[in-house]
Amino acid sequence: MPIRPENKARYPADWIIIRATILERAGHKCEGCGVPNHWLITRNPDGTWNDAGRGRHSGHPHHAPMWDGRKVIRVVLTIGHLDHTPENCAESNLKSWCQACHNRYDAAHRRETRAATRAAKLNGAQRALPLGGLPR
Ligand SMILES: [Zn+2]
Repeated sequence: MPIRPENKARYPADWIIIRATILERAGHKCEGCGVPNHWLITRNPDGTWNDAGRGRHSGHPHHAPMWDGRKVIRVVLTIGHLDHTPENCAESNLKSWCQACHNRYDAAHRRETRAATRAAKLNGAQRALPLGGLPR
């Protein structure tokens, strides 16, 4: 997934080299589902994928928007942090993942982060109430 602008400063200056090293280690494939980088695919509802029959570097999906009744997606491998910490660029903390595998891995963490944020806001709101709560 693209690096959020507010997180850019958290990545090391040589991120582009680190990224290339991890992609090389993974053989330019997703370390989750094995899909090759830049492949044109369709996704099955269970997260598995089909080669859309065009292979690598075979152009933009707009040239083949549908295949077998499904939307064609161009795979762009991303680098995921197992501990969700952009500063931790140890090779053992990094994974080459397609968008789907990266999203699946981050989803649980996003849910936790959202729940924590919501709980913090709620606590803040309750503290702001006068003693005894709202007047009736
Ligand atoms: Zn994958």
